[in-house]
Amino acid sequence: MNYEEYFSTAIEDLREEGRYRVFADLERKAGKFPNATHYGTDGTRPVTVWCSNDYLGMGQNPKVIAAMHEALDKCGAGAGGTRNISGNNHYHVLLERELADWHQKEAALLFTSGYVSNWAALSTLASKLPDCVVLSDSMNHASMIEGIRHSKADRVIFEHNNPEDLEAKLKEIDPARPKIIAFESVYSMDGDVAPIEAFCDLADKYNALTYLDEVHAVGLYGPRGGGITDRENLTHRLDIIEGTLGKAVGVVGGYITGSASLVDFIRSYASGFIFTTSLPPAVAAGALTSIRHLKESAFERSRHQDRAQETRKRLKKAGLPVLDSETHIVPVMVGDPKTCRQITDTLMSRYGIYVQPINYPTVPKGTERLRLTPSPVHSDEDIDYLVKALKEIWQELQLKIAA
Ligand code: PLP
Repeated sequence: MNYEEYFSTAIEDLREEGRYRVFADLERKAGKFPNATHYGTDGTRPVTVWCSNDYLGMGQNPKVIAAMHEALDKCGAGAGGTRNISGNNHYHVLLERELADWHQKEAALLFTSGYVSNWAALSTLASKLPDCVVLSDSMNHASMIEGIRHSKADRVIFEHNNPEDLEAKLKEIDPARPKIIAFESVYSMDGDVAPIEAFCDLADKYNALTYLDEVHAVGLYGPRGGGITDRENLTHRLDIIEGTLGKAVGVVGGYITGSASLVDFIRSYASGFIFTTSLPPAVAAGALTSIRHLKESAFERSRHQDRAQETRKRLKKAGLPVLDSETHIVPVMVGDPKTCRQITDTLMSRYGIYVQPINYPTVPKGTERLRLTPSPVHSDEDIDYLVKALKEIWQELQLKIAA
């Protein structure tokens, strides 16, 4: 086989479809988010970022940065090992306690990312529970899908956010078999929210475990920022709540929370937890400080919602095709990968606005979009400038504008 030819043909196919990924070379500016410097082929220039998942700007919070500096000076750069072999730093222990409390669970377990936490927890549970069946929402994230696949357990996909379809599928499964219902609270591309209570009722009725990914909700919803389950007082109904430290918390890492025995089970059996170096202590210290802050302060959350609603309102007023959603995610629909790329290239080169195009397989073909994530640090002027730029591009490309 000609390996090089195979690789370059596969890449060429992506280019032709318009979904070859080009990373923006950025330097974020602490204290000045959402501003960053873009390192382009024709030099550097300032840009405003409109697609970050540092939803609340906690990545530049002075308390978080100070905590990270302090831990770095105190403990050094890396953790020095896996959790089992010398890499169990006191900051990890404190952070796990904080996470368990955040989701009102007995225990928590840290992973190196949200992706790894989903992959490791789901693959371990589904492979170890004898004859397990996983019922998985059709829009679940790649990390959940990969974890379930890796387990080799039977997988049944139910219609997105549809309790009737889930029940129909549950009815067909032998009641004696262990079952896991795996879903997300806020879906990151459309910004829609799962019927969590209805799913939990079905889990009770059919004796299934519930596994909820709150990655796009932790820090953002609920009186203590514990996610949609915190907002809807449903925390106690979920067996496993999974989250990330890389989005609203502003750092990096992932975790699960649950009963002491379930978490101990994953800790003891999950390869993706056991055989990898633990997070740097400074990262754990930063996440700890960020979560403690978010538990106490509703300021960032309410400003975040205000900015999202304001952005949505102004885009709509300009006739741009915004997808309605009750959450902080503001998708502007384009429906074609090449046009999507053309829009984002023009935003960057002409207006200094950075939005990454979202194409297949992240979203289904024909639903390509700009995924805007307004944050507490986007001003009214930033919003107006974005709307003006998009409207001009829409007119120039003769795309549809609502009357
Ligand atoms: N779960 C969902 C729903 C996600 O969207 C993502 C990442 O975007 C992850 C998990 C993975 O989280 P992390 O970025 O911390 O790996």
